[in-house]
Amino acid sequence: MNDSLYSLADIAPTISRILSVPMVVPDGNVINELEDYSVEHDCKRIVLIIADSLGFALYRRFEGIMPAACSLARHGLLLECVSVERHTSPCIASIFTGYLPKRHHIHSTQDIYRERAKDPANPKIKTILEWAADAGRISAVVIESEGADTFRGRINELHGIPNSGDIIDYDDRSTTSAINAMGNGPDLLAVHLRSIDRYAHRSLNGRELEEALKNTDTNIGRIVEHAGKGTMFLICGDHTIHGWEKWKPKATDEEIRNHDKNVVALIAGCK
Ligand SMILES: [Zn+2]
Repeated sequence: MNDSLYSLADIAPTISRILSVPMVVPDGNVINELEDYSVEHDCKRIVLIIADSLGFALYRRFEGIMPAACSLARHGLLLECVSVERHTSPCIASIFTGYLPKRHHIHSTQDIYRERAKDPANPKIKTILEWAADAGRISAVVIESEGADTFRGRINELHGIPNSGDIIDYDDRSTTSAINAMGNGPDLLAVHLRSIDRYAHRSLNGRELEEALKNTDTNIGRIVEHAGKGTMFLICGDHTIHGWEKWKPKATDEEIRNHDKNVVALIAGCK
């Protein structure tokens, strides 16, 4: 692994620094490039969009059909970020807490309740959204209902989206909820878009996957459009694409290396 790459565990401490929200120092480090960028652009609030399965090489291959993300990256930053696991729950837990899976022990939503029962004050399972709320900031989350319930009573605003067989509709509803949440002026908003992941599992040729990437980008564009000035966007994948045995025969050497290292895209931009 290339030590110079950033980690998903760096995102929470970086948000903590940018928003001046105190947190117990986690495993991850502050990404100075992002902090400098936020200062230069006078960013006052953060919208974190987790685009499930947005690997770095996947983004590079399809950035041409992702104008909203591409515009943010072109005027902002595109970073390589090493993921921490191959599945969604531990990765999102690392994004939100700043700890590696071997330290937060969260591999499913149920694990959050189990770890909390063991030690309600354990900082390794406390998310940056909760740290922000504790510091008097407004934080909001838009994720699948079961995950959203774990935030109940802990942050200002949670939007649980019921799981659905129609993932395009699911992401559409998530995006609409995120736009509604922005109306209440959150300092930190996190939203999880899932269509790339779902289509990577079921797509037999690349076309459906491309549709999911386009759809994700459309939703990113809608969120950007409705955000106020001074909003910093952080868009990241959680792990590289699933169903790799399907994609590998068509992948370039660089894409294969990217998958082996589990490097995802981290895009930063502001409005
Ligand atoms: Zn995922």
